[in-house]
Amino acid sequence: MTKKRVVLTFPTNQVSQPISYHLVKDYDLMLNILRGNITPNEEGRLVIELSGKKQSLDAGLEYLKGLGIEVESLARDIKWHENKCTHCTACIPTCPTQAMSVDRESMEVSFSKERCIACELCIPVCPFKALEIQF
Ligand code: SF4
Ligand code: SF4
Repeated sequence: MTKKRVVLTFPTNQVSQPISYHLVKDYDLMLNILRGNITPNEEGRLVIELSGKKQSLDAGLEYLKGLGIEVESLARDIKWHENKCTHCTACIPTCPTQAMSVDRESMEVSFSKERCIACELCIPVCPFKALEIQF
């Protein structure tokens, strides 16, 4: 049994593809959706964990790539250190999935692990090292 965590980026015309069904039924894979951000008619991202026989896993990933879906390995996670965050909001415009967001009334920043795709764009932006890559 092999396990792999990947980030899938869907072009706008592929967001409605029933990929879970095909990965499970046609490629005999187990699929666990870790987090995601899919909006109809927009580019979407999903972080999934696939497990199964290595051959099936490779075939399943090839199937996804054949649909025009970008497949990237995810080897790490992002941790937000709330105690270091000054709510300066510098990271907000860089986050493509709104995993980092700000409450416009209180101006408090928060982090949603479910939405984070570990793209790491926020890491160099944070002046207080409140965001960290975890291996
Ligand atoms: S790594 Fe940072 S910028 Fe990327 S999705 Fe996660 S919180 Fe947003
Ligand atoms: S850039 Fe860093 S300190 Fe500023 S809001 Fe984002 S996580 Fe907090």
